[in-house]
Amino acid sequence: MSDTSFDSAAARAQVLDRIAQAARASGRDPGDVTLVAVSKQQPWEPVAQVLAAGQTIFGENRVQEAQARWADRREGVELRLIGPLQTNKAKEAVALFDVIETLDRERLAKVLAQEMASQGRAVRLYVQVNTGEEPQKAGIAPAEADAFIARCREVHGLQIEGLMCIPPADEPPGPHFALLSKIAARNEISGLSMGMSGDYETAVRFGATSVRVGSALFGARPPA
Ligand SMILES: *Cc1c(COP(=O)(O)O)cnc(C)c1O
Repeated sequence: MSDTSFDSAAARAQVLDRIAQAARASGRDPGDVTLVAVSKQQPWEPVAQVLAAGQTIFGENRVQEAQARWADRREGVELRLIGPLQTNKAKEAVALFDVIETLDRERLAKVLAQEMASQGRAVRLYVQVNTGEEPQKAGIAPAEADAFIARCREVHGLQIEGLMCIPPADEPPGPHFALLSKIAARNEISGLSMGMSGDYETAVRFGATSVRVGSALFGARPPA
């Protein structure tokens, strides 16, 4: 059931306001934090509302779903892939997305480098780090992150814009955000994609440069 009374434009204004407050409270410029609207699995209507309100950056977690939704609406929109990417979808992902936030293994680094070269497209890349070392979750282990980032750069010639993490659902997120920030700093990486609907203000306090917010903007996702 979709909640027709939910006003996504108003929700977006409120989320932007809370991001700005969290940024100022930690001595940061609100302009240094980007809101990524996570439109996955959402009906079109609320997505259209935030588009009309000026939102231009959207996150999707599946290549095919994103293609179906955005292929004909790409103009002026920045699309970010925030879900796991299989190498057999790398070609389509490179063709569609501006940013891929889920680079987490050598084989994918290699295939993305090849695809970007053959399509002549420079997709911006984030390395996903599995900060909680959860077996069911994608991402490179924290202890392997430095070596992986180095190989992405030196072996595959990739530029890494940022790091991304999804903290364990049942733990306070702060220490995970702090860990991601530390790995980024020692590898001279400036982008930090962290924070979702439940913890984006905390993420901003820990240095997030982009937050990925879905349900706080659009309401609960309908069951898949
Ligand atoms: C779904 C998703 C989000 C958004 O989650 P909400 O809790 O709805 O804000 C953020 N990041 C990733 C990687 C996701 O898969």
